[in-house]
Amino acid sequence: MQLRIPGPTPCPPQALQAMTMQMINHRGEEFSEILNSITGKLKQVFQTKGDILLLTASGTGGLEAAIVNTLSPGDKVLAVSIGVFGDRFADIAEQYGAEVNRLNFEWGKPADPEVIGKALRSDGAIKAVLVTHNETSTGVTNSLGKISTIVKEFDKLLLVDAVSSLGCINLPVDNWNCDVVITGSQKGWMVPPGLTMVSMNEKAWQAYAHAKMPRFYWDFGKARDYLQKGQTPWTPAISTCYAMDATLDLMLDEGLPNIFARHARVAQQVRDGIKSLGLALFPQEDYASNTVTAVNASDKIDVPKLIQLLRDEYDVVIAGGQRKLAGKIFRIGHLGWVNDNDAKIVLKALTEALPRVRK
Ligand SMILES: *Cc1c(COP(=O)(O)O)cnc(C)c1O
Repeated sequence: MQLRIPGPTPCPPQALQAMTMQMINHRGEEFSEILNSITGKLKQVFQTKGDILLLTASGTGGLEAAIVNTLSPGDKVLAVSIGVFGDRFADIAEQYGAEVNRLNFEWGKPADPEVIGKALRSDGAIKAVLVTHNETSTGVTNSLGKISTIVKEFDKLLLVDAVSSLGCINLPVDNWNCDVVITGSQKGWMVPPGLTMVSMNEKAWQAYAHAKMPRFYWDFGKARDYLQKGQTPWTPAISTCYAMDATLDLMLDEGLPNIFARHARVAQQVRDGIKSLGLALFPQEDYASNTVTAVNASDKIDVPKLIQLLRDEYDVVIAGGQRKLAGKIFRIGHLGWVNDNDAKIVLKALTEALPRVRK
């Protein structure tokens, strides 16, 4: 089967094989070796010297953890949103009592760094900025480097949802001064769901020292203390850790520049193929994501029918649109364990299926 949704993504045999291993004591020496190995390798992919915490949760758990460990109720937060996941990050902050100023951009477009700068200039009390690096719902990658430059001119804390970009699209966490960066195992990491990984730099730990939002399971102070002993505060998803240890080796063997180039190349093939089928991309093309392609179905294509047909007759699984984009777009995930041939297979299936689902 071609699982071409933007997470969960297919896992290579090395990951699946690793997951067949027997359980071990999560307070014992073998686990501490695995945890240290994973954390060390993650630092290379995050391109950071900061701390990386491994939490047992999906990506949303990581987003929630990032917020409750750095903010207090009543803190002013600028939530930059270009789609569903930007809205979710804002919702979490609001739920925990932050005073959220929502800066929404049109879906399909990237966030404008200058507009972010203007918002920061007009309200000096803003403490933190929330931003999505790659908006999976619209297939848009923000100019995170430019956004971080502006946010740092104003010396604000920067929290980045990089769930569907890290490990696929370049994100030099330290160079771009991203204080807290969140990702999830089932996206570009070629690992089943179960783990979220969060980086914390010095500025983020300073924020932690004053953050008063309620937290127990998510407490990063506990996670940091236990990490020094080679443990996690609570029982971790051990099998997912086995898989992650294995795929991180694959990633480092391939090398970051090669991984980024492969994602860029496959994404370009998908975009070119879509256009040659007479379809239009949903996002503004110069910001189109290298991990997920959103295609405008306009009024021409019956999206639920297309998804069903691809699944039933071509063994290809793609995603529809979320919220107000339901029925209006379809999305092809090409992140993690993906190569040129996968793009070809999906495009061939689309070529055959599309004439049968035209409205
Ligand atoms: C997948 C995803 C998440 C987290 O989703 P979970 O289902 O909780 O793992 C968050 N942000 C983005 C951009 C995503 O693509």
